[in-house]
Amino acid sequence: MLIMGAPGAGKGTQSTALAEAYSVPAISTGDIFRANIRNATELGVKIKALIEAGEYVSDDVTEAIVADRLAEEDCSSGFLLDGFPRTMHQVHFLDRHLSRQRRGLNAVVSLVVEPDELVARLLDRAQKEGRTDDNEDTIRRRMEVYAGQTAPLLFHYERQGLLVEVEGTGTVEEVRQRMLEAVAAHKA
Ligand code: AMP
Repeated sequence: MLIMGAPGAGKGTQSTALAEAYSVPAISTGDIFRANIRNATELGVKIKALIEAGEYVSDDVTEAIVADRLAEEDCSSGFLLDGFPRTMHQVHFLDRHLSRQRRGLNAVVSLVVEPDELVARLLDRAQKEGRTDDNEDTIRRRMEVYAGQTAPLLFHYERQGLLVEVEGTGTVEEVRQRMLEAVAAHKA
């Protein structure tokens, strides 16, 4: 499964519940990148400025990380990717990668939230969590990059009959219930 949504849509929050419900690991490329930055690894040093500017990490680097992670034992009976794919290149990479292993996606959850609400949530998160890419300029840039590069991916998955759109407004618990029901109905 995949979970998609604009910055602030609640991917990180809801991916945990979705992964638990289906007993699969939740894999966030953003979390992997942040851990590398925190630990000042070679990768972390290379991508820090990009992420802080709200730009995407290159496809090659991101795809290699995802391929390694999907090869781990805990992904053998399924996985939930949070924040990947984000470009059409990554979509094609994932399609090819999975079909080579005779695997495929079952559902692509898209959390839908109004733009004003997204900005308000990110500014709130900036105060609470102190993520360095949650400042006003970077937020604006991340929204633009999402709209230009990632939102079009939803059409690809819609055409494949995989898209499960979920209204992402309401309490965390309300969204969680709505999402789990929609995914169960889709998979049935
Ligand atoms: P996230 O935690 O999903 O919001 O990701 C935080 C940041 O990590 C993004 O703004 C990008 O800079 C980078 N990132 C995460 N996933 C990807 C991806 N699939 N492709 C490129 N960059 C990514």
